[in-house]
Amino acid sequence: MLDKSSFYKKKIIIFDLDGTIVDLDVDWKYLKNILRNRYHAKYKEYCEFRSISDCLNQIVKKKDEEELLEIFKIVEDFEIKTIDKTKPINEVISFIKNISNIPFLNNIKLAIFSLNTRKTIIQALKLFNVSNRFDFIIGKEDVRYWKPNPEGLLKIRSFFGVETEDMIYFGDTERDLITGKNANIDSVLIYDLIEFIVNNYNF
Ligand SMILES: [Mg+2]
Repeated sequence: MLDKSSFYKKKIIIFDLDGTIVDLDVDWKYLKNILRNRYHAKYKEYCEFRSISDCLNQIVKKKDEEELLEIFKIVEDFEIKTIDKTKPINEVISFIKNISNIPFLNNIKLAIFSLNTRKTIIQALKLFNVSNRFDFIIGKEDVRYWKPNPEGLLKIRSFFGVETEDMIYFGDTERDLITGKNANIDSVLIYDLIEFIVNNYNF
């Protein structure tokens, strides 16, 4: 359970994006298919990856940075196509907007660590007027090892020059929790934060 003490001494709150702050309307299955076909056409091998990150991992292994950049662009275009259909997760959006009014959180800094592309992250945050609340964003293009690898969380730590115990990470999946664990950073499901918000605040 999340309570006030969960934030004790925290300096940085990190959020995942999709399913955590907003719900993107992206057909991931379709995108995965596009990438699967592209992979086959390009390397003449099949890659039955479970996730887009699996595909990216294979390309990193091949040291094909050029292809990686192409794929980031394809994913970005695909995500952006339906950005206007993005829905807010209202409790979390209100929490972010009001965070400076919460006494024990008024100095806290906010960051994003997401598997979505930077453009998608920024545009989604802008849709609900919270983009200026974030000091640092790590998106898909900013790492070469994706969740549950903790590279992104560790980059956020170095950016702010803090210790892992100063940070808390909220996401909507088991993979987010594992990613936090791998970085030795407290990680909590967003549903627990929503419950905490609903029980304590009336923004
Ligand atoms: Mg998510």
